[in-house]
Amino acid sequence: MTNTGKSASDSVAVHRSRDLSDLLLDQFFTTGLISETERIAARAHRIRIAGQTLRQSDWLRGQHVRVATGDSAADGVLARVGDLRTYSVWHFDRESGELDLCVLDHGDGPGARWGRNAVVGQRVRFRGPEGSFTLRAAAPYHLFAGEETASVALGAMLGAVPAEVAVYGAIETATAEDRLPLPRAAELAHPLRGTASAARSEILVDAVRELELPHTPGNAYLAGEARTIQMLVKHLVQERHWPRRAIHTKPFWTPGRRGMD
Ligand SMILES: Cc1cc2nc3c(=O)[nH]c(=O)nc-3n(C[C@H](O)[C@H](O)[C@H](O)COP(=O)(O)OP(=O)(O)OC[C@H]3O[C@@H](n4cnc5c(N)ncnc54)[C@H](O)[C@@H]3O)c2cc1C
Repeated sequence: MTNTGKSASDSVAVHRSRDLSDLLLDQFFTTGLISETERIAARAHRIRIAGQTLRQSDWLRGQHVRVATGDSAADGVLARVGDLRTYSVWHFDRESGELDLCVLDHGDGPGARWGRNAVVGQRVRFRGPEGSFTLRAAAPYHLFAGEETASVALGAMLGAVPAEVAVYGAIETATAEDRLPLPRAAELAHPLRGTASAARSEILVDAVRELELPHTPGNAYLAGEARTIQMLVKHLVQERHWPRRAIHTKPFWTPGRRGMD
């Protein structure tokens, strides 16, 4: 036989504590609802988040949001926030209050699980858009390099480069099916690494090395795996004699580190 009196008061207590944690979480996070999901590439989910407060937000291309990957229906503030993971904004529409993320489906970390299991109607708590890895205005040309995760931010930035300004770049993926539909893709190199690691990627460095760049430096945007970025910086500074200030970097992940940023 069930003890109805006890379960009713338990359920009231749970609701009250949820109301309180909602109030608390609302102080720190923006809340939105997932309004669309799509497999945008073989291993990437595009997730559209809609939220009224996004209508008052601004976004600079290259910026990201920090998503609370916890279970929004769970009890307890910590469970509901879960682990924070950072995702570049692929597309932002202030008028409709919507933004799109593209989450790579690899491994079984909280971020990958969140992206894989995202469903329309699900509540999402996040912070941002924020961040300073953004397109610099004045440059004779722009150079972009990174792998799958980086291609989200780099794709957003590519879409903002005026048509008359030249772009160069190398976007590495494991397979051709992992490519995102990038603006100005025809102007970029698209090296494939197959089963090689994206960490310390000589394949990406070689692809950048092979680019026929103008003799004077432009602005470079390097993102993705931390040690590959260091190798790319070394190539630009030591082999092409670029000033370090023309090179903008953002490490997104590296082996053994969880949830960078
Ligand atoms: C500014 C910024 C922007 C980012 N933008 C995006 C984005 O647009 N899309 C996106 O998918 N990710 C992006 N990331 C990475 C993202 O935040 C997470 O790190 C990633 O989703 C892994 O989280 P996880 O919880 O699944 O794995 P974790 O538990 O954090 O990590 C588990 C293991 O997986 C490894 N790992 C993490 N990422 C990769 C990878 N790409 N390939 C191979 N191994 C990996 C880690 O090194 C770690 O050893 C961004 C990160 C930063 C800092």
